[in-house]
Amino acid sequence: MIIVMKAGAGKKEKDEVLKRIRELGYTPHVIHGTTRDVIGAIGDERGKLVLQSIESMNGVESVVPILQPYKLASKEVMKDSSIIRISENLSIGGSKIVVMAGPCSVESEKQIIESAEAVKAAGADMLRGGAFKPRTSPYSFQGLEEDGLRLLAKAREITGLPFVTEVINPETADLVAEYADMLQIGARNSQNFALLKKVGQLRKPVLLKRGMAMTIQELLMSAEYILAEGNQSVILCERGIRTFETATRNTLDLSAIPALRSKTHLPIVIDPSHGTGNHHYVGPMSLAAVAAGADGLIIEVHPDPEHASSDGPQSLKPAKFAELMNKMRRVAEAVDKTI
Ligand code: PEP
Ligand code: MN
Repeated sequence: MIIVMKAGAGKKEKDEVLKRIRELGYTPHVIHGTTRDVIGAIGDERGKLVLQSIESMNGVESVVPILQPYKLASKEVMKDSSIIRISENLSIGGSKIVVMAGPCSVESEKQIIESAEAVKAAGADMLRGGAFKPRTSPYSFQGLEEDGLRLLAKAREITGLPFVTEVINPETADLVAEYADMLQIGARNSQNFALLKKVGQLRKPVLLKRGMAMTIQELLMSAEYILAEGNQSVILCERGIRTFETATRNTLDLSAIPALRSKTHLPIVIDPSHGTGNHHYVGPMSLAAVAAGADGLIIEVHPDPEHASSDGPQSLKPAKFAELMNKMRRVAEAVDKTI
């Protein structure tokens, strides 16, 4: 249920409503709108009739059921798109498209600083880089772990770029959150509900990737796990799904942009690198993602892709990334956005 407060409702009236929601055994989530607040009452839907009684309380305009199984992620709770603050000068979800770029994994100080300087020079807004890597093979490079986080922090200090990095389990989530500006939940962990709950308790924005076999609805249900714990800063990421096609690493589902847009207020990011697995295909799909209305992109860039510890074949060289940024700016302009 959502409780829509009257435009002029005061703190006292809101507090009474919050108290009543808790008494009825529900968890309230306040969402501040531009003209009025709405309160999501999340819990067992069987108590709908009791919640309906809140309609007669002072300051309440209406009580509306949320029809979708995802509640806080639903557009029903907030008609406008969410604008999520990442750092002092950077938000995602508005008319500025946020570009995150960098290597798949942090490999060395030289590699990450060179990458950060190159993507910054090309106009990227954020640095990406994995310190804890969820690899398909236990024999593959698993990441530099905390040393990798330190190096990312050093690259941030030098370039001023905030960074996003993956968190792979609840045990190391606090550690990653101490360093990172945004936490990435990878495709392989996007239905790891213990991890989703854990990052929901942290106060850092979360980039939630779509699992390889996940429907749009399942992605929104995963987002709901994070939102329901009280973390409102969730950004969704389409990174390709597993289909019968083998010409690309995954099938990048760009129709997820309008499909998600019709269902949720959360920002939508596209990952054309994992989506295609081939650096030749990253440019065209990035341009298409901008044209289709993505709020952001996350692109793998490596100064020496031939020798990368992970995902070299899908990584752009810095010069190619700079060229792509220029093209993306032109497409962005055509859809009334900036990069
Ligand atoms: C990554 O971003 O390097 C990564 C492992 O992504 P995904 O979880 O989408 O495979
Ligand atoms: Mn990667």
